[in-house]
Amino acid sequence: MKITIIGTGYVGLVTGACLAELGNDVFCLDVDQSKIDTLNNGGIPIHEPGLDEVVTRNRAAGRIVFSTDIEAGVAHGDIQFIAVGTPPDEDGSADLQYVLAAARSIGRYMTGFKVIVDKSTVPVGTAERVAATIQSELTSRDVSAIFSVVSNPEFLKEGAAVEDFMRPDRIVIGCDDSPHGDIARERMKTLYAPFNRNHERTYWMDVRSAEFTKYAANAMLATRISFMNELANLADRVGVDIEAVRRGIGSDPRIGHSFLYAGCGYGGSCFPKDVQALERTAQDYGQDLLILHAVEAVNAKQKQILGGKIKKRFGEDLTGKHFAVWGLAFKPNTDDMRAASSRVLLMELLSAGASVAIYDPVAMTEAKRVFALDFSDMPHLLEKIRFAADPMDALTQADALVIVTEWKTFRSPDFEQVKLRLKHSIIFDGRNLFDPAAMTEIGVEYHGIGRSVLTRI
Ligand code: NAD
Repeated sequence: MKITIIGTGYVGLVTGACLAELGNDVFCLDVDQSKIDTLNNGGIPIHEPGLDEVVTRNRAAGRIVFSTDIEAGVAHGDIQFIAVGTPPDEDGSADLQYVLAAARSIGRYMTGFKVIVDKSTVPVGTAERVAATIQSELTSRDVSAIFSVVSNPEFLKEGAAVEDFMRPDRIVIGCDDSPHGDIARERMKTLYAPFNRNHERTYWMDVRSAEFTKYAANAMLATRISFMNELANLADRVGVDIEAVRRGIGSDPRIGHSFLYAGCGYGGSCFPKDVQALERTAQDYGQDLLILHAVEAVNAKQKQILGGKIKKRFGEDLTGKHFAVWGLAFKPNTDDMRAASSRVLLMELLSAGASVAIYDPVAMTEAKRVFALDFSDMPHLLEKIRFAADPMDALTQADALVIVTEWKTFRSPDFEQVKLRLKHSIIFDGRNLFDPAAMTEIGVEYHGIGRSVLTRI
């Protein structure tokens, strides 16, 4: 099928590449010329396991092209995916300016029947706004082309995006109950047929319910994390090991094991903004989502947990102290640092007078960009960040090691080397990577999250 993807970011590029891999003829459009140039020169603007190979293979086969030519992009696809960003607006609601700009582009250039697919995460009622925007462009051109707007939210996880897209556990599609909606449903059925060969994975529903489903999913996952983080802090006080509790409750099939890990808070481009946007939608309809207020508040506090533990150990004034930080990305296998806990930690440590040596396997370039922005008003603090060459290099003469992201490469370090390099054998572990008892045994002072009963700290 002929597909156009408007917005070639994480979701758009992965969607385009995977649909090309299945034999579709894909046109990836973006307004960012440098991103398109990178792709056309054989580069990949994001770090995502397996993506490079899929893009390279399909570009060589002529099944995927990258361009900023809006008119050509709109002319190309019978199905037009909108996969642009929906960042938070000042009031927390989803900023729809990019989605509506994409809709305007479609309306400005479309001729025959088009299926428009909202892949971006958008609040309930957005498909109606997209349809009205397209219609208004068509009317101003005096063109009577027809279209149907479909909601097909994306559930891929950064770091496993290609795998998630190729083997989805579910596909949610909301279509209008109308003759045009029926045509759209048939086209979507054909497009997604390869994913349903083994068993049916598609959940068909109305458009508004599909839009809502994405927010409900992310809000539920964020809630599980904040719930466990709050219990972990209590576990530290009452002398309980949160990891034992996690295993104990996760074995209940009604609860399950996923997303129950205590840590130093969730980040990324999705959970924080989607929780806020759902709260905002509720307020617009006169309802207060009390649980989600708490989820956000707990998470904001949890991002400060490592800084708090460090200050409790070394004192509020960290002047002259130096820390090694392992992990900067908001989670492993990505270079995405949007709303990452590492940013809160660095702000806290540097503001209290400390210096840091930081390391992340893939997010170093992004970290340089992000910290230059975070500390643009405080260049003297930026000077206290050393970008280390590798994890061991970061440790040199540090008062403690602080772990923020659970990269695999951090899981089994040579602890003798770690102890040799550090000034003091102290680890603050924001992701509970190590066994506290084993750490005590080898002479490491270990501070995990919700596990102090095992180290008697
Ligand atoms: P992104 O910022 O990585 O990419 C968005 C792209 O859209 C950018 O390249 C931007 O230049 C381009 N763009 C903006 N306006 C445009 C326009 N008018 N025409 C063409 N291109 C335009 O964003 P993302 O992370 O891919 O997220 C996209 C959407 O998918 C968001 O709504 C997000 O919430 C949702 N989502 C993201 C993830 C994720 O893990 N990143 C997962 C599921 C859903």
